[in-house]
Amino acid sequence: TRDTRTVRDYIRTIHDFPHEGIIFRDVTTLFADARGFRMAVDQLLAPYAGLAIDKVVGLEARGFILGGAIAHQLSVGFVPIRKKGKLPGAVVSQTYKLEYGEGVMEIHDDALVPGNRVLIVDDLLATGGTAAAGISLCERLGAEVIGCAFVIDLPDLGGRALLEELGQDVHVLTS
Ligand code: 5GP
Repeated sequence: TRDTRTVRDYIRTIHDFPHEGIIFRDVTTLFADARGFRMAVDQLLAPYAGLAIDKVVGLEARGFILGGAIAHQLSVGFVPIRKKGKLPGAVVSQTYKLEYGEGVMEIHDDALVPGNRVLIVDDLLATGGTAAAGISLCERLGAEVIGCAFVIDLPDLGGRALLEELGQDVHVLTS
């Protein structure tokens, strides 16, 4: 009989990771399943069919896995946005708020050029701080973010509302 599992069915929930009280959404089980991974990649890029996209930008680390597959499918290049100190070349940096303190994300300063149309990809949207930093980095290089795509949205944490306030088109597969 037909397999009716959805993307959501492949995501595992782990309690008390990385610390007590946190309910962590684990997408390794989605990525590890041939059908689940293909469904996730296909559904993430579906709304952008026919749109001009120059680069897929992935947010460290799980955004690399999804973003690489999506870039390959679209036959466009992939650009990583990484945590501070990981990229070897000259970078542009953006600080953002974390639960405790500040984080810093970086992009190579020559990874995008003015006028590039980019799609930003990550596994999960929580407060939106990471994605907002990613949007800012792309825009500081003169690129236009035409969409932000995530497998999971945690709507109570307000990330989607934040990105929409920034004028972004947000695409999520499940909450
Ligand atoms: P935000 O900046 O929106 O608060 O947090 C989103 C970032 O944290 C994403 O890069 C995402 O990968 C990571 N993240 C936060 N919570 C979870 C979680 O429960 N599961 C996974 N897979 N990633 C998470």
